[in-house]
Amino acid sequence: MYSSIVSSYDRRRHSHRLLLELALAGHNLTELTMKIEENISLKEFNIFKVGGVANYFCRVSSIDELKQVVQFARQKELEIFILGSGSNILVSDDGFGGLVIKIELKGVELKDNRLIISAGESWDDIVKLSVEKSLYGIENMSFIPGTVGAGVAGNIGAYGSEIKDVVEYVEVFDIDKLKTFKFNNKQCKFKYRESIFKKKNFIITKVYVKLLEDSELNTTYKDIQNYSKENNITFTLKTLRQAIREIRNNKFPNLSKYGTAGSFFKNPIIEGNKLHLAKILDELGMKGLREGDVALYKNQPLVVVNLGEATAKEIKKFTDNVAQKVFNKKNIKIIPEIVFIGEF
Ligand SMILES: Cc1cc2nc3c(=O)[nH]c(=O)nc-3n(C[C@H](O)[C@H](O)[C@H](O)COP(=O)(O)OP(=O)(O)OC[C@H]3O[C@@H](n4cnc5c(N)ncnc54)[C@H](O)[C@@H]3O)c2cc1C
Repeated sequence: MYSSIVSSYDRRRHSHRLLLELALAGHNLTELTMKIEENISLKEFNIFKVGGVANYFCRVSSIDELKQVVQFARQKELEIFILGSGSNILVSDDGFGGLVIKIELKGVELKDNRLIISAGESWDDIVKLSVEKSLYGIENMSFIPGTVGAGVAGNIGAYGSEIKDVVEYVEVFDIDKLKTFKFNNKQCKFKYRESIFKKKNFIITKVYVKLLEDSELNTTYKDIQNYSKENNITFTLKTLRQAIREIRNNKFPNLSKYGTAGSFFKNPIIEGNKLHLAKILDELGMKGLREGDVALYKNQPLVVVNLGEATAKEIKKFTDNVAQKVFNKKNIKIIPEIVFIGEF
C-alpha cells in the first residue's frame, strides 16, 4: 500500500462535487480524460467477493491519466491503492477511505523473443501468446489470475518458475516525482512473492520480458511428473499448458462460484528452507477446516475460500486462528501472502 503521500485521510463519505474540487485543485478540466467516481463498492473488484466501498475510484489507461489522478490524490491528501484485478487482496468491510486506481494500461509488443507489456494486461493472455509463438520461460505460470503489473510486484510463481527469471526491466511511475523511469532486474529486489514494488511508491507501468526460442521444459514438479505418468505423455509447450490447466482446476475452487485469493499464506522459510505449508496444514488435520462460510479448501488447504456470504472480518478472524494454531502446534510463524486494504 502506498502511504507516503498520506498524512491523514478523511473516513467520512464525501458529498461535495468532484468537478468543482478538481477545478479548485488547479486542474484543467478539459484535459481530464478519465472519470473519478465516489463511493464505489469494491466487492465487484476482488475475487474474494468481500469488502466495503472506496471513497474514490478511477481507472487509468495512460501515463497522463495516472499523473492527473496522482496529483488529485495529493491535493486531497488521499491514500492511494493500486488495483489490478483484485485476485490477491482482502478488502475491509469498512472499505477504503482513499483513492483506488485501477490499472488498465494496455498493449503488448513482441520483437523476436522479447516482450514489452503494459501493466494492465492479463498475465495469462501473455502466457498464452508465448506458447502460441513457441517461446519458452513462462509456461509453468499458465492460468495464474491477475495483471502483469501485479504479477511483477508480487513475483508470482508456480511449478518451479517465477516471473523474476524472465523480467529484464520494469518501467514504473514514481508517485513522488510524477514521472516514469526504468529499473533493471537487480534493482527490483525480487524475493519469494516480494519485490521493491510491494513497499515503495512506484506504480508499475510496463514490463520488459525476455523469453527463449528453445529450452528444456521444467517438468520436475511433483504434480507435473504425476500427470505425465498417469497420462503417458511427453510434454510440449502446448500440452504442458493444458496439463497445468487440469492440475490447477483440481487445486483451486471454481471462481464463478466461490470467492478466494489463491494461497492466503506464504510458505514459511526456516533457516533458508522453504517449507510446504499445505503439507503442514494437512498433517494438522486442517484441510477443509470451516467456520461459517470461510474454509481452507478441501483440495488445497493453503487456499482460503469464501463459500458464500463471508465477510472480510470473518476471513481475517478465521485466518488469524489458523496462523495461531500452526504456531501453537508447530512453533512456526506463518504470514499472509495476500494484501489487506483498509482497516482490520
Ligand atoms: C485462484 C487463484 C490462484 C492463484 N494462483 C497463484 C499462483 O499459482 N501463483 C502466484 O504467485 N499467485 C497466485 N495467485 C495470486 C494472484 O493471482 C497474483 O498475486 C496476481 O499477481 C494478482 O494480480 P492482480 O492483478 O489481481 O493484483 P491485485 O490483487 O489487484 O493486487 C495485488 C497487489 O499488487 C499491487 N499492484 C497491482 N498492480 C500494480 C502495479 N501496476 N504496480 C504496482 N503494484 C501493483 C496491489 O497494490 C496489491 O498490493 C492466485 C490467485 C487466485 C485467486
